[in-house]
Amino acid sequence: MTVSCVLVRGAQGYAPEPLGYVDVLAVGEWVVAIGRGLTPPPWAKAEVIEAGERILCPGLVDLHVHLAGGGGEGGPRFRTPELTLTDLTRHGITTAVGVLGTDGTTRSVAELLAKARALADEGITTWIYTGAYSAATRTITGSLRDDVLLVDRVVGVGEIAVSDFRGSHPSERELARLAGEARVGGLLGGKAGVLHVHVGDGPAGLRPLFSMLEIADVPSDSVLPTHLNRRRALLEEAVRWAAHGGPLDLTTGITEEDGPEAVSAAAAADWLRTQGVGLGQITLSSDAGGSAPRFSPSGELEAVGVGSPASLWDVVWTLRRQYRWPWEEALTLATSNPAQRLRLPRVGRIAVGHQADWLLVDPESGRIEWVVARGRVVVRAGSPVVWGTFEKRGAGG
Ligand SMILES: [Zn+2]
Repeated sequence: MTVSCVLVRGAQGYAPEPLGYVDVLAVGEWVVAIGRGLTPPPWAKAEVIEAGERILCPGLVDLHVHLAGGGGEGGPRFRTPELTLTDLTRHGITTAVGVLGTDGTTRSVAELLAKARALADEGITTWIYTGAYSAATRTITGSLRDDVLLVDRVVGVGEIAVSDFRGSHPSERELARLAGEARVGGLLGGKAGVLHVHVGDGPAGLRPLFSMLEIADVPSDSVLPTHLNRRRALLEEAVRWAAHGGPLDLTTGITEEDGPEAVSAAAAADWLRTQGVGLGQITLSSDAGGSAPRFSPSGELEAVGVGSPASLWDVVWTLRRQYRWPWEEALTLATSNPAQRLRLPRVGRIAVGHQADWLLVDPESGRIEWVVARGRVVVRAGSPVVWGTFEKRGAGG
């Protein structure tokens, strides 16, 4: 058996903190050395990439992806399809955390788990949440706590919907119970055990979460609300949630085109910083694979799109290019922050002993040119070179 090895030479490295000009060497799936003048071991089958002027950064960690599809609002023909390997890798996502969504009836957590395992077999790193929108939620074993504790890939409970007419309008007591199940499962299983909360368009916004904190001893940092940039008013509430020590997740798939109140994730992240929210409290996720239904004020379905994994990198790039954030800060939101928040081991950073999940990016165009996932080149010079089992090669974009 030959051991594969990838050496990137002379890159401007970001771990995400700046590493300066470095060589980075991976043997098998792991980073074994970071330094200058590195050479591949003679016994390994090596691919050497000359970085040129490119930037080397960690592969993206997307903490909210409908890996096995989602949606269905509007009827069965609006059920969105499963994502493929290259849907994710061509946009730099090397770690993805799967969610189920609105439909916990015709879709199951078991199915999501199987899809996550398939993507891991194909070459990336995957985790999932157990549950669906409804608080009387879906599980694999019959117990949320047991799922988190016993099922290897489950990091927490989610996405549970609040302030959304598609959810079950859980009481603060119900939310506290869900957070408790997630947390105890996490404590016993050595995982983050977060409660991941979908916040809908409803006027109650984050109120159910604040009410939960009032009645129960739930640590706010283990409750992760998402879609907070869907309305300006919700974003303002999010500042208060952050002041309570709570983390904030922004959905990169939401843009100003989603309605007069919607805020792009880049604008939202930039504004949150001006309000004193710590960089470590903010994460980005794509919501890819989910349906993006648009409802009229009376609740009628107007249009349905599908969230794209491309938006995650697009927002990192926009923060860098348009909002002039330093690379290390823009990258943090989609690499080390989500990995830390969900306690995902050995991803989200470039460090010795971590997985070799890397992107090589042209700093002028923002184009992702090389992607390495678990020590294997999966995108070379801008084109995927590793495909999912049943993917049509050359498809997509
Ligand atoms: Zn959601």
